[in-house]
Amino acid sequence: MTIYLNGKFVPEAEATVSVFDHGLLYGDGVFEGIRTYNGRVFLLQEHIARLYRSAQAIGLTMPMTPEEMRRIVLATCKANDCRNGYIRLVVTRGVGNLGLNPYQCPKPGVIVIAANIQLYPAEFYEKGLRIITVGTVRNHPEAVNPNIKSLNYLNNIMAKIEAINGGVQEAVMLNHIGYVCEATGDNIFAVNGSTLTTPPAWCGCLIGITRDTVMKLAAENGFTVRESVMTRYDLYNADEVFLTGTAAEVVPVVEIDKRTIGGGVPGAATRKLMQLFHAFAARPESGDEIQ
Ligand code: PMP
Repeated sequence: MTIYLNGKFVPEAEATVSVFDHGLLYGDGVFEGIRTYNGRVFLLQEHIARLYRSAQAIGLTMPMTPEEMRRIVLATCKANDCRNGYIRLVVTRGVGNLGLNPYQCPKPGVIVIAANIQLYPAEFYEKGLRIITVGTVRNHPEAVNPNIKSLNYLNNIMAKIEAINGGVQEAVMLNHIGYVCEATGDNIFAVNGSTLTTPPAWCGCLIGITRDTVMKLAAENGFTVRESVMTRYDLYNADEVFLTGTAAEVVPVVEIDKRTIGGGVPGAATRKLMQLFHAFAARPESGDEIQ
């Protein structure tokens, strides 16, 4: 594998970072996870725009323009023939000293990895996920805003540990006042009849690019889509629940905290949205061509 690292393409074995990089020392940096489908980078512009918004929020000056970044991502995909894969785009604060001060890190580190995708087991999509709500509260928006896709994922990892220890695949995180936020690496939706509900950003979730895509496709296909505060009660009593994310795409949920959702099988609306999403990802306009 060839990795883009700070202006150069290097073999994987040489793609190493300093132990003084604040990305490593403090989780100080931002990232994106992006899919490629059929030789196209899915919604690349949207991912780059979100990366720059994350960087802006943490006061990190990007060392290149969005257009230069777009070209680097495409070139990395080309170098690795990454036509149906997964891209990890990482921007670290860079090398500094052992103190916290980010102003002592003169140059951000930029890494682009274009790898194979680790697909979720087919069983998740056919049978649906069992998930639980967990005690780890999602980061307060005025602490580390969940809209910042930062390199510090400990909040999410703590919740993931609770889910795994609880014998299920995924966790639903609540915010500091008990409202539903999102899963550890995916957004969450409830379906009631032909209405889709998902928490608004201010409740404490990442504005997922898959979330936005599903909302758009649903609205175009006769669903009513709303962003609204949700409690656990709303999840337990939904007709259907599903998660969305770059790696997972659209994945059904059939049990939450031992409450069976939608008869314990993936529902018709979720299956319809899975199909609409796949059809959209196959369309040429959904991504930038790798050439
Ligand atoms: N929430 C969190 C915390 C995530 O890490 C992700 C994955 N990037 C998502 C939601 C889903 O976002 P997207 O659809 O842009 O992948």
